[in-house]
Amino acid sequence: MKQPLLRKAAPMLAALLLASLACQTVMAPFSGQPAESATLAAPSQTAAAATPPPLAACTPGSAPRPIYDSLPPNPAHASIGDPYAPELGNLGYDVQQYTLALTLDPRPQGWLCGRATLTALVTTTTLDEFALDFIGFAIQSLTVDGVLAEYYRTADKVVIGLDEPLTMGDEFLVQIDYQGEVVRRPSPYVPFTPSLGMFFPDPEMIFVVSEPDGARYWFPANDHPRDKAAFRFELLAPEGFTAVANGLLQSETPGPEGTTFTWQHDYPMAPYLATVAVGKLELIESGYSNGVVLRSYSLPASRAELEAALQRTQAAIPWLEALLGPYPFEAYGYVTVRSGGITLETQTLVALSTFMIEDEVLIHELAHMWFGNSVSLHSWGEMWRNEGFATYFQILWNYRDDPAGFAAEMESLTRGLDSTPGLEPLNDLSPANLFGRESYFKGAALVYALQQEVGDEAFFEGLRLYLARFGGATASDADFIALMEEVSGQDLGEFFRVWLEE
Ligand SMILES: [Zn+2]
Repeated sequence: MKQPLLRKAAPMLAALLLASLACQTVMAPFSGQPAESATLAAPSQTAAAATPPPLAACTPGSAPRPIYDSLPPNPAHASIGDPYAPELGNLGYDVQQYTLALTLDPRPQGWLCGRATLTALVTTTTLDEFALDFIGFAIQSLTVDGVLAEYYRTADKVVIGLDEPLTMGDEFLVQIDYQGEVVRRPSPYVPFTPSLGMFFPDPEMIFVVSEPDGARYWFPANDHPRDKAAFRFELLAPEGFTAVANGLLQSETPGPEGTTFTWQHDYPMAPYLATVAVGKLELIESGYSNGVVLRSYSLPASRAELEAALQRTQAAIPWLEALLGPYPFEAYGYVTVRSGGITLETQTLVALSTFMIEDEVLIHELAHMWFGNSVSLHSWGEMWRNEGFATYFQILWNYRDDPAGFAAEMESLTRGLDSTPGLEPLNDLSPANLFGRESYFKGAALVYALQQEVGDEAFFEGLRLYLARFGGATASDADFIALMEEVSGQDLGEFFRVWLEE
């Protein structure tokens, strides 16, 4: 993620962007559900019948308003076990694929209709109940293996019961039809935006920003990087609009209500990196880089600016591949969105703020494809390995032909941190500071110090091995430290203790 508050240079620009973000906070016509009491989920309810009803028509304003009294607490399995974010994720199953069929019309502001189909494998001895992260919306139908299932809602989960328990290794299919007004709640981790998930900034655009806990605001998910899955998107957009998502476009099918854009991404992806955008978007094709499809989408007004930035940074993928190993996915590009001041490294298709079309932002998000997206965090409390590496490679790109300049820049950055009071330990960040300067700049300084500690050869060999070994999955700080010790032959315990704990 990148936000203008973290700009080192150009304080004027940062101030302007901050103003634009604040402006959006006030002006964006979000859901109209400002109060916490009005943002809870639908009531406990059960349904038991033989066959699911047909998909309800998507009719803005039609779904019942949720009722908010006496929501039950979450059961114990409704946490994947991340001590930093125990409210996220669930145990007992492993999602293999999400298929999200969404009706995406930016004109009725904030209204979403969807059918989410999840295939999952049981990962526990006996599964008779399981939970999904899901906030808001009226659920119109919920089936497991084609049969209506019993379920109840809590404030942030849907808990589904199984008549016939499943056993370890069984595959099952969950289908949830839902519609309603998108709920807005502040994330404890992202104080610089009023909410996460799906945004409707104006009647001509929809976009998504979900890191770290926003996917559950637009589709039912096992919302933690520990459960990655493939994604398929079937996005119905009104005439004249283009809908984009992660991966590759499979088809565009016109129909009476608009065009359905089908996208498929077959690589493991954490739910927070799933993205869709709808707008009057124009395709910018840039060919291939070593077999990777390069495609971006731009709003007409930002097209020239994006094309120029793509031109300047076109060598970045081969440059990073030479340092880190192969680019980890099938496609790469950007979609410009009217997000005010936030850009997110959504997998294969970065949601790029129209205010942030700059080389350093493009490189930062590209580096995240390796650091954060291919190898994801085992715990959200280890954010320095996402943002520290992305910031390090962003700076290295700036000085790619000037090693002395790079060293001077990193030493200056490190000295600046030494003289900054009040920094939190990297392994003990308060939630509101998860995307603070520690994760970005102290993280980058740590990466540079590690390079000095083990030497260039072991440093890059270690990074390549880390990306190869943990690619498509998650890694913890302990995994990373053990691997760097393995490659360097050095005891790095004290080095990391100082950098992470002090
Ligand atoms: Zn970032």
